[in-house]
Amino acid sequence: MKSAAVSITREPGFEDKARAAVKKLGSKKSRLYEECRTAYQEQGDDAALESAQALLNDAQNLSMNDRERLFGYLEGSGKMILVEPEALLTVASKMPGLDGQKMSKSYNNTIALREDPEVITKKIRTMPTDPARVRRTDPGNPANCPVWQFHLVYSDDSVRQWATTGCTRAGIGCLECKQPVIDAILAELAPIRERAQYYEENPDQVRNILADGCEKAQELAHDTMRDVREAMGLTFG
Ligand code: SF4
Repeated sequence: MKSAAVSITREPGFEDKARAAVKKLGSKKSRLYEECRTAYQEQGDDAALESAQALLNDAQNLSMNDRERLFGYLEGSGKMILVEPEALLTVASKMPGLDGQKMSKSYNNTIALREDPEVITKKIRTMPTDPARVRRTDPGNPANCPVWQFHLVYSDDSVRQWATTGCTRAGIGCLECKQPVIDAILAELAPIRERAQYYEENPDQVRNILADGCEKAQELAHDTMRDVREAMGLTFG
């Protein structure tokens, strides 16, 4: 994470709270954090700063407040507030749409998470393919085919190899080529659909979850706004 915080503030007892937060990292990580912090603050070691920031980003057991404290403590400042978030991208960071463009409702090229399996199957079976494959006997090029982008997301090396060879030598038809993609998407979405169905049948539980989340968000927002006011000198006696 970049140190691009909107503001930095020294909360009362900041050092003690930061030291307590360091301990929550566990012995190994807290030692590493302290080593990086020293290296950065005493020698200006940017690599050490980045290592410690990565360590904080990966630390699952920290509360948001403690994480912000440790980001600030690392750089010798106060608690960083309103830290600018950065994207956490997976290998396949962009999910293509059914036509190869960005997946978007306005392009009408989406697969919805709770869509009926039969509808999904039909959508993929009717996806456009390499225009060069007019007939089954025409060789194609996966690079010119939107289905290939789905293979890149859903298929392993052996399936990709099979699709590439089959496509370029006209050894398989496009429907054959699409079947592993259909199977993979249906397998991925089945548990999501099942979980969603449970909540559809239990709306009271959904309301309770929303109410709990709302309460937690209000507490966090309250703390953050208090920090913002302190940082801006807007605290009134
Ligand atoms: S065989 Fe597969 S990769 Fe080739 S054009 Fe058909 S769907 Fe696309």
